[in-house]
Amino acid sequence: MEEVQKLIIIGSGPAGLTSAIYAARSNLKSLVIDGDEPGGQLMGTSYVENWPGEKSILGPKLMMNMREHAQHFGTEFLSENVTKVDFSKKPFTLWTNRDKELKAHAIIIATGATPKRLIVPGENEYWGKGVTTCAVCDAAFYPDKEVLIVGGGDTAMEDASFMKKFTKKITVVHILDKLTASHAMQEYVINDPDINIIYHSTVTEFHGDGNHVTGVTITNQKTGEKIKKDIDGVFIAIGLTPNTEPFKDHVACDDWGYIKVSNHTNTSVEGIFAAGDVHDYRYRQAITSAGAGCMAALDAERYLKDILP
Ligand SMILES: Cc1cc2nc3c(=O)[nH]c(=O)nc-3n(C[C@H](O)[C@H](O)[C@H](O)COP(=O)(O)OP(=O)(O)OC[C@H]3O[C@@H](n4cnc5c(N)ncnc54)[C@H](O)[C@@H]3O)c2cc1C
Repeated sequence: MEEVQKLIIIGSGPAGLTSAIYAARSNLKSLVIDGDEPGGQLMGTSYVENWPGEKSILGPKLMMNMREHAQHFGTEFLSENVTKVDFSKKPFTLWTNRDKELKAHAIIIATGATPKRLIVPGENEYWGKGVTTCAVCDAAFYPDKEVLIVGGGDTAMEDASFMKKFTKKITVVHILDKLTASHAMQEYVINDPDINIIYHSTVTEFHGDGNHVTGVTITNQKTGEKIKKDIDGVFIAIGLTPNTEPFKDHVACDDWGYIKVSNHTNTSVEGIFAAGDVHDYRYRQAITSAGAGCMAALDAERYLKDILP
């Protein structure tokens, strides 16, 4: 490994790996730091059916293909986590959980976001097996099936209205007595006779047949009453946490912790770029993250051309 890397990419999801492929194809060798979840969020799902050129591919297989593609062009990987950074001096410095100190002239932060979970029995077992977070990705798997959406904010309402294209058997479970989504989104869902809303309640257990979720236990938070409901799919829409803990005091972030970008991938520090779900809370797709990864690599390459002899 060189003493000062030209480019370090933090994160190996679709954004990080696409950055690595584009960097390598520009003759810019990069080091990718994997973090705790090599391959990112798609490692925890089953079939992906909206990746162009692949009618249906397992998420882990898609990510393995991307990783092999990056490796093929010379990308190096480090299976560690970035825990601390210093972006105040150039070259920039990073430290990992194994106390490794790394220096780089440019950095792409592609650390994604972590969907919030309910943390109840059965959730981990059926995560990606009928329990998911992305209606845009998976709604088409449930034509005329019965689905449950957990949450009461804008994302939950958007998921409910998106699901309507596929099924009329939709139940929304919300922990409060009122939805928290914007007025227009609420009205749409409340006035839809096909969408049943259960208030004051949350899912407290997931049940399944070992391969796929088949039902849930819903508990009323006021009365403690529990009901069991058969269900074909569950969409958890209670928010995401951007993975910005090590960076949030070093680049500008918004009130929710997402990295702020300008001119596509530039952060508040020249030479530090961001790509994917770590800054994009709107689209949250593999393809948009990969697109941002491409842009970040091209921007990093132009930046490096200007600063390095
Ligand atoms: C269950 C599920 C199903 C989905 N299905 C689809 C689908 O079918 N189609 C679709 O387009 N999208 C889908 N998505 C959304 C898609 O997975 C994300 O939009 C996409 O993975 C975001 O890519 P990313 O590279 O920005 O971040 P991520 O995929 O979140 O990757 C982040 C990477 O950063 C690393 N990292 C984090 N913190 C650190 C750190 N401190 N140091 C080093 N590395 C770090 C992680 O280990 C990981 O490698 C799904 C999401 C989920 C949760």
